[in-house]
Amino acid sequence: MTEFSFEIIAQDGRGRAGLFHTPHGTLETPLFAPVGTQATVKALTPVQLRELGASLVLANAYHLYLRPGDTQIAQLGGLHKFMDWSGPLLTDSGGYQLFSLAAQREVDADGVTFRSHLDGTPHRITPETAMGIQENLGADIVMTLDECAEPYDREYNRQALERTHAWARRCLEAKTRADQALFGIVQGGIFPDLRRESAEFVASLDTPGIAIGGLSVGETKNEMLATLELLDTALPTDRPRYLMGVGAPGDLLEAIPRGVDLFDSVLPTRLARNDAALTRHGRVNLRWATLADDSGPLDPDCSCYTCTHFSRAYLRHLVVGREMLSATLLSIHNLHLLIDLTQELRQAIIDGRLASTIESLREGLASGERPE
Ligand SMILES: [Zn+2]
Repeated sequence: MTEFSFEIIAQDGRGRAGLFHTPHGTLETPLFAPVGTQATVKALTPVQLRELGASLVLANAYHLYLRPGDTQIAQLGGLHKFMDWSGPLLTDSGGYQLFSLAAQREVDADGVTFRSHLDGTPHRITPETAMGIQENLGADIVMTLDECAEPYDREYNRQALERTHAWARRCLEAKTRADQALFGIVQGGIFPDLRRESAEFVASLDTPGIAIGGLSVGETKNEMLATLELLDTALPTDRPRYLMGVGAPGDLLEAIPRGVDLFDSVLPTRLARNDAALTRHGRVNLRWATLADDSGPLDPDCSCYTCTHFSRAYLRHLVVGREMLSATLLSIHNLHLLIDLTQELRQAIIDGRLASTIESLREGLASGERPE
């Protein structure tokens, strides 16, 4: 595991600025990773991703296993080559999709039997096959197979936790590639004792990073923050912590001072395809009629390609005309905003002014632009 190492270069309160070294480059944390579910961040080329500041990109093992197939991607030279992303890549194990997307799912101690949500064909995933799929794909950071339970069902969470832990151990045993960092996943719903038990177990696996799963899945904001606070003290500080699937601007402001290092979310690109922009002054819907003659940039505080080249009136024109370019330009802006926000918080940690930076960013987000 010598190809991966994590160093913390500065700390402010519980917030950490770090460097995570991977075989495809060093990641500056905290960071926000765009999601390329199907080996593509929708509407963007890798060159555009690079230009807007992306460093780590995510892909979903479940989707790529079903189509085009992980063995096919391996034969074509692996995921980096297939999608032409030369930087670090992360794949999830498929656990989350198995429990949210797959049809007719049956879980037993050994694995999950399910039908594809695409064509109904039967499949079976075990910890060993989940590792095999991720080794075929070849991402730098890979995940153990986990069971994401409904957050309030204690009995189910207890059961799922035992399976998740047993499966993590089996993933670790099945792993053969030294150029991949396997992260264990902490589960346990909203239950503090289960979360603590899971944190202790996952820490004991001695993986190069630790993922926090099962948050932002229906629990309240306060329950999520209480869980993050608990985990901040329960988890070792010497490894990167990855909060799976969470990454709205407000979430970054809460989770970074609670010791989280890595984020991913489909939110920025999904909103972009639904005509909405995230800004430092709240959300803007490009369908608002008031934007029709607005010659100003989408976000005057943003330095992205979209904001430095196009007016709100033009973006609204694209959206109303259902032009494909709107998804590209809004995705560029939304991703740049989250990446830029994360980098600003990183710099604030280095400069020792994290609390005041969060305060002023929070005021901006709360000021919220509205249609007239
Ligand atoms: Zn912008």
